[in-house]
Amino acid sequence: MIDFNRPHFTGNELKYIQEAVLQEKHISGNGVFTKRCQSFFEQRYGFKKCLLTTSCTDALEMCAMLCNIQPGDEVIVPSYTFVSSALAFVRQGAKIVFADSRASNPNLDADEIEELVTPRTKVIVPVHYAGVACNMDRIMEIAERHHLFVVEDAAQAIDSFYKGRPLGGIGHLAAFSFHETKNIISGEGGMLVVNDEKFIRRAEILWEKGTNRAEFFRGEVNKYGWVDVGSSFLPSEMTAAFLWAQLEALEGIQAKRKRLWNKYYELLKPLADRVCFKLPDIPEYATNNAHMFYLVCKSLEERSTLIKHLRENDVQAVFHYLSLHSSPYYQDKHDGRPLPSCDRYADCLVRLPMYYDLVEEQVEQICKQIMEFYKVYC
Ligand SMILES: *Cc1c(COP(=O)(O)O)cnc(C)c1O
Repeated sequence: MIDFNRPHFTGNELKYIQEAVLQEKHISGNGVFTKRCQSFFEQRYGFKKCLLTTSCTDALEMCAMLCNIQPGDEVIVPSYTFVSSALAFVRQGAKIVFADSRASNPNLDADEIEELVTPRTKVIVPVHYAGVACNMDRIMEIAERHHLFVVEDAAQAIDSFYKGRPLGGIGHLAAFSFHETKNIISGEGGMLVVNDEKFIRRAEILWEKGTNRAEFFRGEVNKYGWVDVGSSFLPSEMTAAFLWAQLEALEGIQAKRKRLWNKYYELLKPLADRVCFKLPDIPEYATNNAHMFYLVCKSLEERSTLIKHLRENDVQAVFHYLSLHSSPYYQDKHDGRPLPSCDRYADCLVRLPMYYDLVEEQVEQICKQIMEFYKVYC
């Protein structure tokens, strides 16, 4: 069976964990490895301030707190996304105004969000689906005109760019994930990026249980205590040490994933040209970080049959999000607008195996099965 996902280990994970435990003797948070990981992102991508978190969900919760979301405030979120993109704001009392996807790819349609803005709107949350950039110039321009914050859900978007600018570095705030299903992993793990300086001080306080501990250790205040709300958002050094072993190997991991992605694309392009299904769309302003390879089938029935065909031939392919606007938790709270593009991806998108340890022969085998299937279906 070719699995859908397998976590990749670079080989240095245990060595660095051992170093944290035996040499540094510091296994709680904010030690040497945490700082090393944070400055990796600050230096490589020019992010102003990075704070590792226990998950991307946690980083998004910090964003909701930093934007000072109050009950009744509105937040614009695509409906075709993971629960956390909306949940983090719902916890602060926000009303989610769901945006539809583009016809050409699952990202929210920037041309449609302006009509969703009301006097209660506070935040727009662009999710860079499959690591492919949303139309950020348009989103930032709308946000500026209406005095809104932009929080990028960059969970899938490590090492990907919009017009040459790194994703996660454009909105006021951003959140990354190092969950084991992402390109770079630490089991559970995430990171908050603060691009707007005015949030930095409070972000450090929320991160360390509402205390000004960071300022104390920098010698800026002579005692530290409880100054705000917050939580224990920082991961242990063992998580950070693991993550460091992955970050060191970032370039090799990305190169291999892109090779596999390009192989899929090249082998499946002839079928896409015959309009059997659609391949991922990468707008000219965006790069591809090879987080995911997906197809968009023509119907739910076709997709189910394809997934079944692949499973019978030892390939694990999976569908993705169910529309959040019609989820059991939110459907009664949704304003009732139909979101047809989102529903189409919920019904028709299928993801193929994509991970570092996959080999090109397996990609060929998977594509051969897809070709077999479309002999009948196209
Ligand atoms: C994975 C993912 C998350 C959640 O990440 P965690 O680290 O598991 O909290 C949020 N949003 C998107 C778009 C994701 O893909």
